[in-house]
Amino acid sequence: MIDLHTHTTASDGRLAPDALARAAWEVGVRTLAITDHDTTAAIAAARQAVIPYGIRLVEGIEITAVEAQRDVHVLGYFLDPGSAPLGRFLARQRASRIDRVRGIAERLDAHGRPIDLSRLLRDAVMQPGRSIGRPAVADALVRAGYAASRQQAFEDWLLPGRPAWVPRTGPPVEEVVQVIHEAFGIASLAHPGLTQRDDAITGWAAAGLDALEAHHPEHAPAASARYSALARELGLLVTGGSDFHGEDPARVNPGGRPRALGRVWLPADDFDRLETAAMARRA
Ligand code: AMP
Ligand code: ZN
Ligand code: FE
Ligand code: FE
Repeated sequence: MIDLHTHTTASDGRLAPDALARAAWEVGVRTLAITDHDTTAAIAAARQAVIPYGIRLVEGIEITAVEAQRDVHVLGYFLDPGSAPLGRFLARQRASRIDRVRGIAERLDAHGRPIDLSRLLRDAVMQPGRSIGRPAVADALVRAGYAASRQQAFEDWLLPGRPAWVPRTGPPVEEVVQVIHEAFGIASLAHPGLTQRDDAITGWAAAGLDALEAHHPEHAPAASARYSALARELGLLVTGGSDFHGEDPARVNPGGRPRALGRVWLPADDFDRLETAAMARRA
């Protein structure tokens, strides 16, 4: 089984690379991409962690672009984590995440919900390459007793229109695609069914986007089929994965589709095409 979308403790996943490798192996995943938000910090440990299980690791990332004040996630695969332009770009992304978390904490404070910001920032600063985000704030709200679960914290405080919402600034999709290409990677639009910018996909494809993540737990079968067809039409590749963040029973998705490991996988033919494209990019 091939799962090309997972998160670790380097961003907002609950499992460290070794625990993730073990969990993946247990459900039958044999090719695994780690796609943390704006960091490749887990990849070195993951390379070691997969060895005892005979799992093939694909170097990955999920980068947050911003279009019209809305987040657009772009996945990168087969990239060189040592790429200098990528490293500089990601350092800026993580710095802006820290700024944003500070802003969110100020708003929570103003609403009588102080969280232990120094603890969150200490974690982000002490572990090189660790990327912070709203899930860490959500967990702090739960610890402080202001929310019953991560999901509830998002709904009550952290989503657009809620009291602690802070708009994000960031690079457009075209720039993210370029940085991924500079690192010899393949760029795929993450969960287009959640992002809901189908109107922009043709333009992004013209700007070099390589693939669409047709298979995702929050895509109904009809949506997967639609994005697969759109990819074919535009000459794009197809990616897919579970978007696993570690078991969080409290997390109930809108469509009731848990992001469990092994729940969504990528057909082997699609993976072979991705790999061929990646090899061509390096040649
Ligand atoms: P950030 O990187 O700070 O924008 O946080 C985005 C991350 O928060 C996503 O990648 C998800 O892991 C998580 N997330 C987004 N929306 C929700 C939600 N409604 N409930 C729980 N987690 C969410
Ligand atoms: Zn996430
Ligand atoms: Fe995402
Ligand atoms: Fe993700």
